[in-house]
Amino acid sequence: MQKRGIKKEAGCSWTQVKNRVHSFVAGGGFEFRNSAEYRKMWNELSEAMKKIGYVPGTSVVLHDVNEETKAMWVCGHSERLATIFALINTTSGMPIRITKNLRVCIDCHSWIKVVSRVTGRMIVLRDTNRFHHFKEGVCSCKDYCVFLRILLCLVSALSCPSCVEGHANE
Ligand SMILES: [Zn+2]
Ligand SMILES: [Zn+2]
Repeated sequence: MQKRGIKKEAGCSWTQVKNRVHSFVAGGGFEFRNSAEYRKMWNELSEAMKKIGYVPGTSVVLHDVNEETKAMWVCGHSERLATIFALINTTSGMPIRITKNLRVCIDCHSWIKVVSRVTGRMIVLRDTNRFHHFKEGVCSCKDYCVFLRILLCLVSALSCPSCVEGHANE
């Protein structure tokens, strides 16, 4: 990201678990990501997602890096860390609430949709644009933000501030 000179505010997400607010920064949470409980949850989710035919998206990672590195980058997005943390630390069936300081990226948006489907959880994500209510694989925004951004990309032949903004921050 630094190479492109477009890095701005770092992506950060919060979730409340048992009256305590836990925050996660994009690309951070190394200790948590190396923990056994994280890996267990991550593997369970990946397995369940594979079964229903979900292919992880890595479109937000712009650089010329290989697919594996891209997947790792996207996995480190703050909303995913917060989601996994909440899944581990809340009782099954409990709704999950996450707040993000930036707009949710396209890949995380589809990832959370699938998470809501495979876990049966309701996930409410509030980003700078709106509330997203994920339930059984669909989001209340009906992917409006995603369509709008793709449309903006198409009409803007020169640059895509909308996309760059969303992508650059993580
Ligand atoms: Zn993301
Ligand atoms: Zn949404």
